[in-house]
Amino acid sequence: MRDPIRIAVLHFAHETVTFLKNDTRLDDFIYPGSPVKGEALLKAYPKSYMGGFVKMAREFDGVELVGIESPLWPKTYMGSGWVTEEAFETLTGRMIEGLQAEGPFDGVYLCVHGAMAVRGVPRPEAELARRVRGIVGPKAFIAATFDLHGNEDDEFLKHADMGFAVKYFPHYDEYLQGERAARMLVRAIRGDYKPAHVTVKVPIVSATVRMWTGASPWMDLTQRALVWEARETDVYVNVFFGFPFADVPDIGITIQVLTNGNEKLAADIARDIARLAWRNREGLLTSTKIHSIAEGVALAKAAVANGETPVVLADHSDRSGSATFLLKEIIAQDLSQVIIATIADAKATAELKASGARAGDAFDMEIGGLVDESAGDPVRITGTIVNAVEGHGQFWVVVKFGRDNVLIVSTYLVQIMEPFSLRALGLDLDAFKVFAIKSRVHFRRGFHDNGFAKTILLVEPDEPFLGTTRLDALPYRNVDLKKFYPYGNPAFPD
Ligand SMILES: [Zn+2]
Repeated sequence: MRDPIRIAVLHFAHETVTFLKNDTRLDDFIYPGSPVKGEALLKAYPKSYMGGFVKMAREFDGVELVGIESPLWPKTYMGSGWVTEEAFETLTGRMIEGLQAEGPFDGVYLCVHGAMAVRGVPRPEAELARRVRGIVGPKAFIAATFDLHGNEDDEFLKHADMGFAVKYFPHYDEYLQGERAARMLVRAIRGDYKPAHVTVKVPIVSATVRMWTGASPWMDLTQRALVWEARETDVYVNVFFGFPFADVPDIGITIQVLTNGNEKLAADIARDIARLAWRNREGLLTSTKIHSIAEGVALAKAAVANGETPVVLADHSDRSGSATFLLKEIIAQDLSQVIIATIADAKATAELKASGARAGDAFDMEIGGLVDESAGDPVRITGTIVNAVEGHGQFWVVVKFGRDNVLIVSTYLVQIMEPFSLRALGLDLDAFKVFAIKSRVHFRRGFHDNGFAKTILLVEPDEPFLGTTRLDALPYRNVDLKKFYPYGNPAFPD
């Protein structure tokens, strides 16, 4: 009989757009169901990293998982800025207390994202790992899962042993990476895997809208990583694309390779993939066409006239969810049979909820805009409410207006990732030719990779607002963009 293995499970995730004005506060992490501990934590996100981790860990005999009280994603999801120091200190403090109370542990699983940004804490995931290490001691193994948008350098793995990042954007393999983390954690604890790792930064920074792994050259980075994992046993490769909308020191592309005790192999592979990225730097930054909003709406109109429908018009740059530029242009160019999903307007949805809005009511309101300059001005919509419903912690109001158009007003930022989610609001998808949504790449899961849309148009406003592809217009304080391609001429770190 082997000794039983005790593994602590923690969760702390956010993708922080530090250029948003609304901080991510302690309150945002506290709601019914969060923070959460024990079995309820292990059951959170069953199709994602956590689900994969728990499923695989429990396939081994003698493994005990202990869910340590942890916050789930904040209720603002990705629509909020800097995580306050109070939130970080309070929540990690509770996690550390939980670890202390429930220990000792042979291993720890950290379910993180990698692009959390905390005021006064330059590398929050690494700082969490450092504190966890302080409690569990040098002999325990610490493994984490990451989003490929994580902003990472070698700091995290100074305190933790292993990290597993998703390889695809859209992130199809979250569950798979959770499974890997569990298996490798158990193997490391049993002495069957001795993690050796090498991290290489590649000085390339890109807006996330360009990072779709369904096309070259981003796809080539994914493919190269998969080839290395296939041809060498016990090799794991993370290609972090990074998240440029967090003003933190470790943005940009990062390659991380994990091997079973073979540091030279890890270094060779990391350099190989870093070189591939560098050779393709121009293509990485130019392969995705981004239109102005006026141009995109005109192209959508032409596509409808040519029968190349459905059309996706994706305003990739709206980070608050309240931006009205695309809605305004759709009205100005008099498009018909368009779904606009969504305009976030917390005030309007609260008023509508309070007044008991329901299907059949006349609608006449100014919607969206205002939260900051990137949201633009409110737009007056007159029409008829066809649905008003509570769900997923938000109030949703579906308004029919103009020539068979529908506007969905939500409380918070919503990324529509696949068209069928709109059916839940009672909509007949066949009645629409154009889907105007707020998404960068995740929508390709349900609109593009499956062949649903015939025309895909990515747009952003003329002004370089906080979600722009023109990163040099953003007010960075912790990043010198000149150290990154395409904003400077950095040397490749050979
Ligand atoms: Zn991501």
